[in-house]
Amino acid sequence: MQTIEERLQLVKDRLLQALARFGRPADAVTLLAVSKTQPAQAVREAAAAGQRAFGENYVQEALDKIQALADLRAQLAWHLIGPLQSNKTRVVAESFDWVHAVDRLKIAQRLSEQRPAALPPLNICLQVNVSGEASKSGVAPAELPALAHAVAALPRLRLRGLMSIPEPAADLEAQRLPHRELKRLFDSLCAQGLALDTLSMGMSADMDAAVAEGSTLVRIGTAIFGARDPKPPATTDRPCGWSGGA
Ligand SMILES: *Cc1c(COP(=O)(O)O)cnc(C)c1O
Repeated sequence: MQTIEERLQLVKDRLLQALARFGRPADAVTLLAVSKTQPAQAVREAAAAGQRAFGENYVQEALDKIQALADLRAQLAWHLIGPLQSNKTRVVAESFDWVHAVDRLKIAQRLSEQRPAALPPLNICLQVNVSGEASKSGVAPAELPALAHAVAALPRLRLRGLMSIPEPAADLEAQRLPHRELKRLFDSLCAQGLALDTLSMGMSADMDAAVAEGSTLVRIGTAIFGARDPKPPATTDRPCGWSGGA
């Protein structure tokens, strides 16, 4: 059995290899460790090994973990990568550093209104339903520009970029297509004057394809923490933005 530290190192090595293979700088991609369903102790081990950014899908589970790891709060960045319902926006605005799956203006407006004045603006990625999206969530590409400009104008948010969860595909070439599409949408928003710097794309199974197409943040769970318990945690949050397990 490998330790979390060992698996983390293997993932970082694999990421560096992919970056070199596709001609990108070694520091071009942030590794987000997806710790959903994992105990706080697993996050503590990863943090002790130098990992700083953690992704969670279920709000209540994440809040419990953030509290259990309060002593590390200043060093860690907590990213909500799962779907967010409007009745949870306040606790999310108060506790997280990033929210990745925003696909409606109403949710963004609530997050902006509820972000405490003492905290820096909340970092936001818009989830886009690119071709082959496995779920129904995510804004349609045709509606993305209007949503992006509206979110960018909200005072207590900082629009950082786009995220997607493409349908699993078997080979590298097929995996690259939806990532290429997200990058194209990203570039066109940048050309319209939005200062974006984050393309949140790539998971354990399609990390190389995402790196090839310009990802700046890969979300890796199982490759770092091992397989998840197939049962979702006892919480009212459903992982409805993600049909691939957990
Ligand atoms: C669970 C999850 C991941 C991590 O998936 P792995 O296959 O474990 O790497 C990434 N992104 C989202 C949105 C997820 O829900």
